[in-house]
Amino acid sequence: SVATRDVHLAFGRNQVLRGIDLEVGRGETACVIGPSGSGKSTLLRTINRLLEPDRGDVLLDGVSVLDQDPDALRQRIGMVFQQFNLFPHMTVLRNVTLALRQLRKLSRDEATELALRQLDVVGLRHKADVRPGRLSGGQQQRVAIARALAMSPRVMLFDEATSALDPELVKGVLSLMADLASQGMTMVVVTHEMGFARQVADQVVFMDRGRVVEAGPPAGLFEAPRSERLRQFLSQVL
Ligand code: ATP
Ligand code: MG
Repeated sequence: SVATRDVHLAFGRNQVLRGIDLEVGRGETACVIGPSGSGKSTLLRTINRLLEPDRGDVLLDGVSVLDQDPDALRQRIGMVFQQFNLFPHMTVLRNVTLALRQLRKLSRDEATELALRQLDVVGLRHKADVRPGRLSGGQQQRVAIARALAMSPRVMLFDEATSALDPELVKGVLSLMADLASQGMTMVVVTHEMGFARQVADQVVFMDRGRVVEAGPPAGLFEAPRSERLRQFLSQVL
């Protein structure tokens, strides 16, 4: 599970998170939506300690992440970004085995076996020996997901994982994410894909200007938004 408790964070004078409380139960998927600049990416980054809150706490399975070694933490929290952040000079296989070998200290054979199994899951085992540049954006993103999953994370964070993809490639990545959710992965998904949020999320979290304005099951949130701000936002994106 992931929880944030009254998380505040500022960049200089820019107060970006103003008391965020989030509760994502084990096996649940929360989709975070909201306008550009509302603090969605910043929030995700506080969860795996890419950023440190000024105030408040972040709990992973009930334990504060602020007391945990960032490297160890990032093995337990997988993160997938809009830009896939694969290493262009390494093969797909090496991209997936790298952290297994360096952080998890697996042998070459163990790492390879695990990586190939994970590439199989995302349908890209046959691309193991090519470099990312030879893959479509959707395939690269699936490799990035395989790389994160290979570490057996407790939680997966997605920051607009499909926003950089050509429209025809979005579906494959979203359906992989939906599969993960249905298999019981705990996920926090920042997305502009309202269809995905409606179908997959247990909970939708609407953020605006550093606050959670509304949160709840997608049906209620999308069909009967309580706040004017969410109504406005939905009228722009739906
Ligand atoms: P988008 O939908 O465009 O991705 P977002 O909701 O993810 O937006 P954030 O990236 O969290 O928004 O940014 C929130 C605010 O924090 C913005 O005003 C942004 O300029 C500011 N900000 C984000 N990262 C930094 C940083 N590293 N240094 C300074 N300011 C930052
Ligand atoms: Mg963002």
